Amino acid sequence: MLDVIIIGAGPAGLSAALWCDELGLDTLVLEQKDSTGGQLHSIYGPIANYPGLRTNNGLEFFERFAERVSEADFDLWTGVDIESVDLKTKRIVLRSGEELTSIAIIIATGVRRRQLGIPGEAEFAGRGIIESASRNRDQFPGQDVCVIGGGDAATENALLLADVCATVTLVHRRKKLKARPDFVARLQNQHCITVFSESMVSRILGADSVEAVEILRKEALKPFQLAVRGVVVRIGVEPNTELVHGQIQLDDKGYAIVTSQHETNVANVFAIGDVSNPLAPTISGATGAGATAAKVVAMRLNTSK
Ligand SMILES: Cc1cc2nc3c(=O)[nH]c(=O)nc-3n(C[C@H](O)[C@H](O)[C@H](O)COP(=O)(O)OP(=O)(O)OC[C@H]3O[C@@H](n4cnc5c(N)ncnc54)[C@H](O)[C@@H]3O)c2cc1C
Repeated sequence: MLDVIIIGAGPAGLSAALWCDELGLDTLVLEQKDSTGGQLHSIYGPIANYPGLRTNNGLEFFERFAERVSEADFDLWTGVDIESVDLKTKRIVLRSGEELTSIAIIIATGVRRRQLGIPGEAEFAGRGIIESASRNRDQFPGQDVCVIGGGDAATENALLLADVCATVTLVHRRKKLKARPDFVARLQNQHCITVFSESMVSRILGADSVEAVEILRKEALKPFQLAVRGVVVRIGVEPNTELVHGQIQLDDKGYAIVTSQHETNVANVFAIGDVSNPLAPTISGATGAGATAAKVVAMRLNTSK
């Protein structure tokens, strides 16, 4: 029987583990991927808003974090496939057959990019569906591309692609872009970017790789096809809560609902970081929540021993 099992090894889970270790708790972290760090691996721009630490990108930030993690003394299993979690009994079963139990569980599973779920999206992954403009734009010099979404991530990707592509078409559903005003202003000064508002992409088409998108505009009666060689999808994120669905209270978007101590409605089950923070998902928020949850668990264990 462990003191704490932490599910997810992004900034929230790793911070909670560091605090649990410091507080003398017997801790195991389970991470589904082969590496830890979560979304830090998707940040290609500078991180300048974490107090006391400024890095050129997420990887650099992660390396500083990992340095500290390597000095700590908690167990960390990566590449773990969790089959089921029973939050009441705190029993976790892995696909490998192993069974684990603990006194407390901390859910730190973060968020993932939302998919459109339209024909062609999954089929052309890696064959014209662009994972990240900053990482992959050099594969599309002089090409026509399409970006789907109207928030910060979509406009930032459109701006990055505009540096190397012939044309960038930004397609989004609302009347106005939701992105930061400075991004929108930069977008308007880029002659190669066209914005289709109140529009949606209904299909991604091609043979071996992406060749076109089918766009439906509000005022148009019929969809039309636009020839493009690359597509970026940035339509927001969704929380990784499938594992605990039906066991804790979630909001209408699937985010875990927690108290100010980051506890869910099941005793000794905590949810920290982006998975319970739809309003202000940040690294500092995630690491702070990790500290709070660890301290609450330590306090409870010390008083019950
Ligand atoms: C492009 C971009 C730029 C950003 N810029 C900034 C910035 O400048 N400043 C800032 O503060 N924040 C920034 N953020 C947000 C920041 O990265 C997140 O707030 C932070 O990573 C949240 O940490 P987390 O641990 O809660 O979740 P995540 O980082 O999402 O980590 C969750 C971890 O849980 C694992 N996991 C999920 N499901 C399971 C499962 N079933 N079993 C085991 N493991 C699981 C995942 O693999 C992952 O490793 C940015 C994010 C992005 C994408």
